[in-house]
Amino acid sequence: MTVKDDIETPIFEAPRLSAALGRSVAFKMECLQPSGSFKLRGVGLAVRHHAAQGARRLVSSSGGNAGLATAYAGRAAGLPVSVYVPTTTPPEVRALLAAYGAEVIVSGSVWDEADAAARQRCADETAAYIPPFDDPLLWEGHATLIDEAARQIAKPEGVMVSVGGGGLLIGVLQGMARNGWGDVPVYAVETFGAASYAAALAAGRPVRLEKITSVATTLGALQVAAEAVAWASRRPVTSVLVSDEDALRACVMMADHLRVLVEPACGAALAAVSAGRPAVGGTGPLLVIACGGAAVDARRIGDWRELTRPPDEA
Ligand SMILES: *Cc1c(COP(=O)(O)O)cnc(C)c1O
Repeated sequence: MTVKDDIETPIFEAPRLSAALGRSVAFKMECLQPSGSFKLRGVGLAVRHHAAQGARRLVSSSGGNAGLATAYAGRAAGLPVSVYVPTTTPPEVRALLAAYGAEVIVSGSVWDEADAAARQRCADETAAYIPPFDDPLLWEGHATLIDEAARQIAKPEGVMVSVGGGGLLIGVLQGMARNGWGDVPVYAVETFGAASYAAALAAGRPVRLEKITSVATTLGALQVAAEAVAWASRRPVTSVLVSDEDALRACVMMADHLRVLVEPACGAALAAVSAGRPAVGGTGPLLVIACGGAAVDARRIGDWRELTRPPDEA
């Protein structure tokens, strides 16, 4: 049996966590999507589009979740899927891709290299390339998470969203604009070692990082989509940087308080509130986009708990 599409995800609030943080923090639980992340929203829409246009194969490149979403949505659409991944993609994710029936090709050490190989494969016109973040179809699909949130909760006083290539951020901003949330502050969160959006905002255009040095591999796009930078001139978008350690600590926090396993990309969004830095203004309710948690298991959470334990508890 296959759940055909992305699902409506719940919004959870963890009362003790909110109390500890000194303000109400709610989580849009995109980590509960069948493929493990919000990516299924945009990718699902793109796959349905290409299937309707007569595509015979779907090709993805990804550090993980875009590939998982393509494999998932492709299987649901009855199309073969080829996923090109860099060597940094964990074996568990590769195994998951294969379990969805996708052909997995390991190519290059960073996403950009895997992506070049994937595009090459699509020289054959019957194969449709599904990009990981820079595509209006993806943004439109991602925006539906805010359509849902606007029905589920009252307007928050801030939205925390992590940024890799910026597709999620663009979708969230589009969704906020069309749901009357255009005046709500948006915090675009990255880890220091994957700060391609912060670099782009500083330069006023997308710039290419030399390398990614963060555990948050799903935030590891060397260069963001131009549309993500353009949005910052249409409305305020605040860039927030967090450490890998704070992102990992936030993953442990989410396991303890929300009973879910999330990846560092998701921990980063929470860390922007929880790390004890005054990066985020106000005292009102915040909405954290709990973007995903595909490549995480109980053992990893345990490792991260050890790694981030304060010295006095060691
Ligand atoms: C892809 C991804 C991101 C970043 O999304 P972009 O659209 O690349 O900015 C964040 N978190 C998770 C879990 C992801 O899969």
